[in-house]
Amino acid sequence: MSCIFCSIVSGEIAGSIVAENEDAIAIADLAPVAPTHILVIPKVHYANLDAYVRASDPAAVAALMAFAARLGSELEGGYRLVVNSGERGGQSVAHLHLHVIGGRAMQWPPG
Ligand code: AMP
Repeated sequence: MSCIFCSIVSGEIAGSIVAENEDAIAIADLAPVAPTHILVIPKVHYANLDAYVRASDPAAVAALMAFAARLGSELEGGYRLVVNSGERGGQSVAHLHLHVIGGRAMQWPPG
């Protein structure tokens, strides 16, 4: 089954990688909802957060979040970290990704 984020991880499809570590890449979102909108994507395919948490050591989950938080902490004035999970959670790409969104004031509650 083809997965757009697996294709970006493998280099088969170009994505603008802004950061990378051993376990994950960070790319610019194709359709940004804020001046900065980065996606943190684990290199191994997991359909969603639940699949990742079930399969991973808690330290790996924390490391993925820390990677996203490091990117967010570079944004002036704060940022928002979002994980959409499942259909009703608003997930549209079935490969776990963390949205790091910043560069403007956020609204609450989200839609
Ligand atoms: P979600 O709705 O949480 O699954 O988020 C999927 C995100 O992936 C959306 O914000 C899309 O704009 C983004 N997206 C989809 N395809 C690409 C791509 N090829 N490169 C970068 N971002 C993408």
